[in-house]
Amino acid sequence: MQGAAGAGLTVVGAVLVMLALNAPQDGEAAPGAGNARMGEARPGTLTMALPDAVSDVVLTEARAPGRPIVLIDPGHGGRDPGAPAVSGAITEKQLTLTMARELRDLLAKRGRVRVALTRDDDRYLTLDQRADLAGRIGAGLYLSLHMDSAPNPLARGATVYSLSDVASDAEAARFARVENSAAGNGSPVMDGSVEAMLGDLALREQMTASADLAVRMVRKATGRVLLRPEPHRFAAFHVLRRARVPAVLFEAGYVSNADDEVSLASPEGRKRIVSALADAIEADLATRAAR
Ligand SMILES: [Zn+2]
Repeated sequence: MQGAAGAGLTVVGAVLVMLALNAPQDGEAAPGAGNARMGEARPGTLTMALPDAVSDVVLTEARAPGRPIVLIDPGHGGRDPGAPAVSGAITEKQLTLTMARELRDLLAKRGRVRVALTRDDDRYLTLDQRADLAGRIGAGLYLSLHMDSAPNPLARGATVYSLSDVASDAEAARFARVENSAAGNGSPVMDGSVEAMLGDLALREQMTASADLAVRMVRKATGRVLLRPEPHRFAAFHVLRRARVPAVLFEAGYVSNADDEVSLASPEGRKRIVSALADAIEADLATRAAR
């Protein structure tokens, strides 16, 4: 039942244990801060031991203390390869991990935010394990990274999905249903109590902030990244809701399209996407901090 990674184990206790803290000197990001790899203790990173299937989380340090934390979640992994690319040479789980590492490294180099990845290797995590990590490390923003796939080989471009209780279109609703089915049980039923209403208010705020983030991502990506028509879509994604912080799911392009695959598999193609995402993330957190 329980694989080497302990996938599927229930998360009990969310106590973070600080294993190693090597503070960067003179408040500056340490050299090589952009090259964090799991299990590699080095200056400029904070390693947190988390129980069960979630690996130790490496948090990059920023140029100043107390900067907001971004959680980047490379979709799929382990026994779940995600969508195969049209060439057959690569799968979605490899591309999401590569892109997530590049985004983490760029944000770490700039030093305006702290960054962690839900996985920094080829492992299987449930949607709940991914989303719950946001609360456990105190993240202020959650970004789920995916690559799209469609029966139509001509479909191309990136899409940003944000959380909403009403779907933007039938395709977004269908996509959310597919994503949510991987999560097992859905969210708890609201019972109309004060607690539930407070939860609802927090949920409204989360949805508004997530939509703002998605709009900002589209704006930063426009002219740099090939986007689908109507690139900001929304639906009731379990993983985004459960993250409880402003959260979006970014589909970077179609691995079922030959041109998109070439672009997503190339460092230059990914660089355009990664820098647009980094700009949007930094701007979003700076705006929220200023409020
Ligand atoms: Zn995916």
